[in-house]
Amino acid sequence: MINVTKTFFPPIEEFNKQVQRIWDNQWLTNRGSLVLELEQKLEDFLGLDQSKIIIMNNGTFPIQVALKVLAKGGEVITTPFSYVATTAAIVWENCTPVFVDINPKNLTIDESKIEAAITENTTCILATHVFGNPCNVEEIDRIAKKFNLKVIYDAAHCFGVEYKGKSIFEYGDVSTCSFHATKLFHTGEGGALFTKDRELFHRCFFSHNFGHKGQTDFHGLGINGKISELQAAIGLAVLPHMESIINSRKQVVQLYNNHLDFSKLSKLKLREETQWNYSYYPIVFDEQVTVALVQKALNEQNIFPRRYFYPSLNSLPYVKHEIMPNSDEIASRILCLPLFDSLDSKIVLTIIKMINSLLKC
Ligand SMILES: *Cc1c(COP(=O)(O)O)cnc(C)c1O
Repeated sequence: MINVTKTFFPPIEEFNKQVQRIWDNQWLTNRGSLVLELEQKLEDFLGLDQSKIIIMNNGTFPIQVALKVLAKGGEVITTPFSYVATTAAIVWENCTPVFVDINPKNLTIDESKIEAAITENTTCILATHVFGNPCNVEEIDRIAKKFNLKVIYDAAHCFGVEYKGKSIFEYGDVSTCSFHATKLFHTGEGGALFTKDRELFHRCFFSHNFGHKGQTDFHGLGINGKISELQAAIGLAVLPHMESIINSRKQVVQLYNNHLDFSKLSKLKLREETQWNYSYYPIVFDEQVTVALVQKALNEQNIFPRRYFYPSLNSLPYVKHEIMPNSDEIASRILCLPLFDSLDSKIVLTIIKMINSLLKC
């Protein structure tokens, strides 16, 4: 069975070596030495210049912490085209999502429509760099400064992405990433928060550990978003393989790019000056009926692409429903094709052939 992605498992000896260190230390959580080492190695790998990382228990929690600290129960301008976590975090933190439609070419929030959605209750912009494709960070930054808003980027898809020569995690007041097992780099479950603002860093840091400042002192309200040493052990075993993982994915992407028939479908349009991470391979068909046809034909061969993202988040049952023409339309016509490091090129060619022949009828 071929799924849209496949979790990377490092050789078990490499994981065992890390687990042995945990047993030697007799220390399982509360920011042990493996977590600290992973944070250091990630900062190096990602080439972080000003931003600092805090690894957390998943990729949703850092969005919640950032919203708690920055959005303060206000209106949050956000994209309808993302994973459900983006909107769920806003509603969960008692803020109000205000959707702004996407640009149908690059699938990120349409920055030209943000100003019209701002009210006196707006506190924050939470946008997603969809499939690792950066938002228009310069324009969003300009709008945020003009209206005194904070900017959070859900960069769950962006491990290793660079924009204009620096890590995408350096943009916005806060950036977050997911290290879930289905993501490019993973710790099983896990995630991270990035910020270059020192004060914000401290607030988020204390927030993810009950506000503890030593054993008896508390630095404000906090809750538990810590990751354990066992998860860090997975991360430390996966990280040395990242370059080769990204290279293998690049080969798959090049096959799709070179052989799919783009006369009746389109591929992701990356923003200029982006060094991408080959995280997803979305294709958008010209017609909605084709999605079902392609899905059915591939499923019959035990190949399972995913309708990612579908449905558009403005149709979630717990938000005020509004029509978002571009997001609704793209969500109904998009399919993410299988993409992972060990995907056999013969299978990729089979997928391509099937799609191309269905497009001919
Ligand atoms: C995966 C994902 C998340 C949530 O990450 P978890 O680690 O599963 O909590 C948030 N936003 C986007 C865009 C995602 O794809």
